[in-house]
Amino acid sequence: MEVTIESMGSAGEGIGRVDGYPLFVKDTFPGDRARVSLTKVKKTYAFARLVELLDPSPNREEPRCAQHRRCGGCQIQGLSYEKQLLYKEEKVREDLKRLGGFAEPPVNPVLGMEDPYRYRNKAQFPFGKDKEGRIVTGFYAGRTHSIVPETDCALGIGENQNILQMILDFLNEHHIEPYDETTGKGLLRHALIRKGFATGQLMVCLVINGRRFPQVEKLAERLFTIPGMTSLTLNVNQKNTNVILGDEIIPVRGQTYITDKIGNISYQISPLSFYQVNPVQTEKLYRTALEYAGLTGRETVWELYCGIGTISLFLARSAKEVYGVEIVPQAVEDAKHNAGLNSISNVKFYLGKAEEVLPEKYEKEGIHADVIVIDPPRKGCDSACLETMLAMAPERIVYVSCDPATFARDLKILCADGSYELTKVQPVDMFPQTAGVENVGLLTRR
Ligand code: SAH
Repeated sequence: MEVTIESMGSAGEGIGRVDGYPLFVKDTFPGDRARVSLTKVKKTYAFARLVELLDPSPNREEPRCAQHRRCGGCQIQGLSYEKQLLYKEEKVREDLKRLGGFAEPPVNPVLGMEDPYRYRNKAQFPFGKDKEGRIVTGFYAGRTHSIVPETDCALGIGENQNILQMILDFLNEHHIEPYDETTGKGLLRHALIRKGFATGQLMVCLVINGRRFPQVEKLAERLFTIPGMTSLTLNVNQKNTNVILGDEIIPVRGQTYITDKIGNISYQISPLSFYQVNPVQTEKLYRTALEYAGLTGRETVWELYCGIGTISLFLARSAKEVYGVEIVPQAVEDAKHNAGLNSISNVKFYLGKAEEVLPEKYEKEGIHADVIVIDPPRKGCDSACLETMLAMAPERIVYVSCDPATFARDLKILCADGSYELTKVQPVDMFPQTAGVENVGLLTRR
């Protein structure tokens, strides 16, 4: 059927109506007139696939990547960047209204990028075989695990191509099999590649279904001809799951980490540690968090979900003391090391779950906070953690979030009894070309 797209859904899909009945159509944008075919029909809405663009929207822009429709990574690459930013601002505002119950959420325009491509400092490429039995690497086609062979992602670094080709050649020459998800056999699962944009340092971590990679020293020899190559490690993952990384890192050559810089703080990053993927925007994000924290040098700050201590260290020079809490042991190790690396001594990091460490410290030791900063994963903050934060009654809560829906849900809980007011929300475009958007929210005690 034919449909005119009028709005956009939360996953970046176009929404049009046929006799008032909404159709969700991936790869379409407001202003498109399109011929679509229904793929799934529900009682009150349906999903459809774009068949032919009859009259393209003026909001479109030529995507840089030929694979953008097949790939699960970029949902809105066909939309002009200017409109992408407006779409994200609207999405944040809508979620805060609908899920957060804020009548007029104080949302600023999204902080965008000057060049919204090649911004990612990290990628994890799956290895497998195509129908002809050739070893391939690339990315998973949207919502599947079939690999589209493409080593030059338009969001990623130029070095990816070269590194992946070296690995592919090596597998073929040495008859090393890629992992097969259906049989659980084969060795190489993924290659994780990370680059420090400020330092130029490169890390490659090969995720393997085993503990040994044949002749890996020879592969190291080749990879280390690439300028910036600093770290080659193996990661052991012998489980039949969708989780990419296992727990164990085996050093092969160079260090087991790379170093990068955000602003004037240096960070050591291990393969298993979380590190923001867009360093250019991360600096804007952290500067906003610092501004919202309103530090004068006298404050005690708690940072929950602190990763390798990135935000904690960013705040430390403006605070009296900062305490970080993080669940991944390697990240806490990195955080402690990073404090030393920057000669920052007024920070302390705790290993554990935020929802356990914070209540325990509060109940047993009566800890105090002037400012609490949180940066939880997509699923948001645990309720035990939110309750303790309220009980601790800090002057300000700075909430950094990569998911507007759980952000809105948690802010609603934090504002429920009226002791806090949502005063500012700053969206930051950490993930151009995708439907994702990061936010910093400021809650002030009344
Ligand atoms: N603030 C950091 C990390 C943010 S990502 C940065 O900007 O780099 C979220 C972090 O929360 C990850 O490091 C993850 O390992 C950690 N995490 C996930 N669940 C947690 C929990 N229940 N308690 C504490 N940390 C957790």
